[in-house]
Amino acid sequence: MDFLRPASWRDALEAKANHPDATPIAGGTDIMVEINFDHRRPATLLDMTGIDELANWSEHAGRLRIGAGLPYTRLINELGDRLPGLAIAARTVGSPQIRNRGTLGGNLASASPAGDGHPPLLASGAEVEVESVRGVRMLAMEEFFTGVKRHALAPDELISAVHIAPATGAQQFSKIGTRNAMVIAVCTFALSLHPEQQRVGTGLGSAAPTPRRAPEAEDFLSAELADSGQWTSPRPLADSVVRHFGELVARAASPIDDVRSTAEYRTHALSVMARRTLGWVWDEHRRQHSSNHPSNDHTGRSECA
Ligand SMILES: Cc1cc2nc3c(=O)[nH]c(=O)nc-3n(C[C@H](O)[C@H](O)[C@H](O)COP(=O)(O)OP(=O)(O)OC[C@H]3O[C@@H](n4cnc5c(N)ncnc54)[C@H](O)[C@@H]3O)c2cc1C
Repeated sequence: MDFLRPASWRDALEAKANHPDATPIAGGTDIMVEINFDHRRPATLLDMTGIDELANWSEHAGRLRIGAGLPYTRLINELGDRLPGLAIAARTVGSPQIRNRGTLGGNLASASPAGDGHPPLLASGAEVEVESVRGVRMLAMEEFFTGVKRHALAPDELISAVHIAPATGAQQFSKIGTRNAMVIAVCTFALSLHPEQQRVGTGLGSAAPTPRRAPEAEDFLSAELADSGQWTSPRPLADSVVRHFGELVARAASPIDDVRSTAEYRTHALSVMARRTLGWVWDEHRRQHSSNHPSNDHTGRSECA
């Protein structure tokens, strides 16, 4: 097996152009499992860990640019306050050792329907920056995933970064597994409120061949909140709204039966997670609103189940 170890991003792009079949390795927490089990034997590995700029993040024009090689631990510690939904998801990945090595870029490129980073990125409207010697492309999250473990990268392209706006409202992530840690998700759900756009974002994981949003659920809840003036004067949500949101989220899924769950259970669990996360984000939205507008304080925990 050949091992290429570029010291700069430019060298990495040139190496990928010259060896399009080279397999990048970042934290190695996915690829080494495949190699160790003999599921994959790449002729050439392209080591991404010597490229300092890949493991950094920056902020520009109100958006964060997270290098593809930033490990989860640093993402949680350094960006958790600005990206709470992604940080909650990152905290559920593997174990401390996996979070010290594993990266968002590796999670994206593995393109597993169960990747925990994907639903919060979808809910936040993130974009994936990919690059080759030919230039840079920005892909919406929805465009990035093309099938089970398949993505839109050309053979000579690498993921350079993820672009995402810091949270402007409450965010949540929920994951169901057979135990609390070190588990591949049975299914996941991420929810983000974008009060400044009066919009709701969703992301579903392990619920279809690719991670996906629930656009009908997003449109329904965004319109309900706008029509009832709730973005600016939040009150407890009606049970019927919460229930219908859960139904629409479940309807967006097309899960399968597999070793981890039945499709029926996944569909049911998604509606429960959608209702619960909505209760959590709505409580937080009301708390944030009442601390910004103390004279209009009508808080009381929302009664969503
Ligand atoms: C014990 C264990 C527990 C785990 N638990 C979870 C979990 O709870 N949730 C979860 O989502 N995942 C989990 N994983 C999977 C894995 O940790 C994550 O998917 C992680 O984000 C992969 O990142 P990495 O940097 O280690 O990727 P690597 O293994 O280095 O690479 C993964 C894939 O990405 C490609 N790649 C890497 N960087 C780039 C780049 N810049 N451009 C293009 N392609 C690139 C590689 O070629 C490879 O195909 C677990 C893995 C293990 C071993």
